[in-house]
Amino acid sequence: MSQDPNCIFCKIVAGQIPSKKVYEDDDLLAFHDIHPWAPVHILVIPKLHIASMVDVGPEHQALLGKMMTLSPRLMKELGVTNGYRHLINTGADGRQEVPHVHLHVMGGPRPWSKG
Ligand code: AMP
Ligand code: ZN
Repeated sequence: MSQDPNCIFCKIVAGQIPSKKVYEDDDLLAFHDIHPWAPVHILVIPKLHIASMVDVGPEHQALLGKMMTLSPRLMKELGVTNGYRHLINTGADGRQEVPHVHLHVMGGPRPWSKG
């Protein structure tokens, strides 16, 4: 299934839940995290519903590569010049709360509230 009607991030993709969008194209959406850990904290997500990294296969290689290569560009556009952190949580022990693959990208001057 490409979208899950019960998934909060699929609802953000569909515009049913508002978000502070940073970037959008046919494959990806990036928006500000609602509870930021850092001065700049965005989430980069595929529009395709993939519940977690456990569900990723070779067919997703280009999509995940696109997420990784987009994020430095977005951080630069958001004024982050001194480094940032990438984070993907996977499953219960990985403390994944939202079951739709998302790349946290956090940066900006320290101290941060978390991380
Ligand atoms: P994770 O623990 O990796 O699943 O993180 C989920 C992230 O999604 C958390 O950092 C939340 O603050 C963030 N989040 C949850 N709901 C929303 C929302 N409606 N808009 C923006 N970020 C959200
Ligand atoms: Zn989803």
